[in-house]
Amino acid sequence: MKDSKSLIQAEAELSAQYYQPIPVVLSQAKGVWAWDVEGNRYLDMLAAYSAASHGHGHPRLLQALRDQSEKLCVPSRAFYSDKLPAFLKTICTLTGLDKVAPMNTGAEAVETGIKAARLWGYRIKGIPKDRAEIIVANNNFHGRTTTIISFSSNEKSYDGFGPLTPGFKQIPFGDIQALQEAITPNTCAILFEPIQGEGGVIVPPQGWLPQVAQLCHENNVLLLLDEIQSGLGRTGKMFACRHENVQPDGIMLGKALGGGMLPISAFVAREEIMQQFTPSMHGSTYGGNPLACAVGLEALKILQDEELIENSAELGAYMLGRLHALAHSSSVITEVRGQGLWAGVDINPEVMSGHDMADLLMKHGVLTKETRHQTLRFSPPLVITRKELDWGLDRFEEIVAQIG
Ligand code: PLP
Repeated sequence: MKDSKSLIQAEAELSAQYYQPIPVVLSQAKGVWAWDVEGNRYLDMLAAYSAASHGHGHPRLLQALRDQSEKLCVPSRAFYSDKLPAFLKTICTLTGLDKVAPMNTGAEAVETGIKAARLWGYRIKGIPKDRAEIIVANNNFHGRTTTIISFSSNEKSYDGFGPLTPGFKQIPFGDIQALQEAITPNTCAILFEPIQGEGGVIVPPQGWLPQVAQLCHENNVLLLLDEIQSGLGRTGKMFACRHENVQPDGIMLGKALGGGMLPISAFVAREEIMQQFTPSMHGSTYGGNPLACAVGLEALKILQDEELIENSAELGAYMLGRLHALAHSSSVITEVRGQGLWAGVDINPEVMSGHDMADLLMKHGVLTKETRHQTLRFSPPLVITRKELDWGLDRFEEIVAQIG
């Protein structure tokens, strides 16, 4: 067996270098725990950016994967398959929306939503050809395709990849006045994350989302919410928009939908939007394949059967309470934000970077990752117990006490 050092070196030699991983080489994981190639154990407090919300290797998901893989995996959508309807039905029921475009990655779900919104804009709203505008927020993260990075405000995401796709307007996240001023007769949609994840776990002011929904309603503009990271229980509700009782016209799902096993995503929307698609206008070879449907459906059932959303609400409030208390008592932390089992913790730049803090935590047995330089995030699997969470937070407190 190879050691960590040689495996890291091999990866560096052979992989495109657009990641800066924490230097730990994982080879196994179960539930909330992961092991490196040397056999050291770590508590996973990242959960693959919410993709592993069910914990690693959930037995019911493994069973669904095994059972379905022996029957039918990827016939493509050149044919009907028996697993798709139940998967679609469950997604529609959970979102309160009418139709689903099943995809694979989050970025594909976002791209699908953009295409659907533009089609709706031209055909239903009557926007002149090629003039449709979509309003987005500064500091957003919706994926890595050339169109999606075209409306990123992070220079590292878009610089060097032009010409960029036009048709997007950026406004400050949480600013209702700016949103009002940005809407024109050519606006077909507003696309936001209800809580910005990669932007640093930024929670908008309370009451903002209902105001956005109201503006959309008044101006015949679609409200599209990217719940790829915030959805499926992460914030303590099935969807983050439910904290404010907002019903979007379209919603993007991904990450946890694949149960930490397969890339499964979806764009879900009202009938009037989705019926604009006709054959040959869109598609995906793997999207909606029976293996994905079996795993995705089981992943959604587990959230409810095991009360993972309730656990996220309860332990999330506890985790945020502990982190806020720590921030009060130490100058190492400058701010704590979050909802449910999802926290962004800003590390004082005079002390160290978020990356260095994540590195230090790894050395003490806790896995997480920084975002945007100074923010450390905690988003453990939703199956975590209070005891396990305490173990991870104790390690963080020890480190903060040592360096503070
Ligand atoms: N949207 C949000 C809110 C995300 O956080 C991400 C990934 O982090 C994406 C979209 C893109 O998902 P994927 O990496 O599966 O394309």
